[in-house]
Amino acid sequence: MKLEYSSHVKMLRYIARTAKNMFGVFPRKCNLCGFSGSFHAFGTPPRFDAKCPHCGSLERHRLFGLWLEQNTSLIAGRQLLHFAPEGILTQILKPLAAHYQTADLNPESADIVLNIEHIDLPDNSIDAILCSHVLEHVNYRQALSELRRVLRPNGDLLLLFPIVEGWDDTYSNDTITTPKDRELHFGQCDHSQLFGRHIRQDIRMAGFTVDEFTATEPDVSTYGLIRGEKLFIAHRQS
Ligand SMILES: [Zn+2]
Repeated sequence: MKLEYSSHVKMLRYIARTAKNMFGVFPRKCNLCGFSGSFHAFGTPPRFDAKCPHCGSLERHRLFGLWLEQNTSLIAGRQLLHFAPEGILTQILKPLAAHYQTADLNPESADIVLNIEHIDLPDNSIDAILCSHVLEHVNYRQALSELRRVLRPNGDLLLLFPIVEGWDDTYSNDTITTPKDRELHFGQCDHSQLFGRHIRQDIRMAGFTVDEFTATEPDVSTYGLIRGEKLFIAHRQS
């Protein structure tokens, strides 16, 4: 009985500490909007210091921003198609690209309606495409094939997605269909798979070479990034 009481007290202290951390653990900086101060938690389970309270950026957006600082030429003056657009990235990319267009299945979310598994665009028609946290929701092999088809030779495909680096293979399971089971198995109620390291080979097999960008310290702690999170730069082979 005494042990049980002690365990409950420890749990209540843990909950109180966790609740406090939801509003920021360490001071951070946002490289996208210039905000300095406490970031908010985001996600389920919560990731502390994930979201900039000023512009709403998450870790992946700030990671992309860091890459962009050193690789502006891959966007500047080029034609860019942005799937499932995030507002904070649109603000940065739209003035930079020669021609910028957003695409989504939902007509209210983007400039044009496109299904990434069957892209209604001509072959060899786009310079660069950004897909952040899209591939894990769809038939990714079909999507990669379509993305390669619409990219011009030497075009670039910028990809962010959750990856379990400790797994060789991507985990998919056709018997997992309910939102609850998808959350249990794939980490989110609308994910269709969880990628392992082999996803790099899948991208290569689709006709790309693959480069990777990962932030290191002091950027990770300064900007509140996920350690080891990857941006993949897939270059279409001609
Ligand atoms: Zn910000």
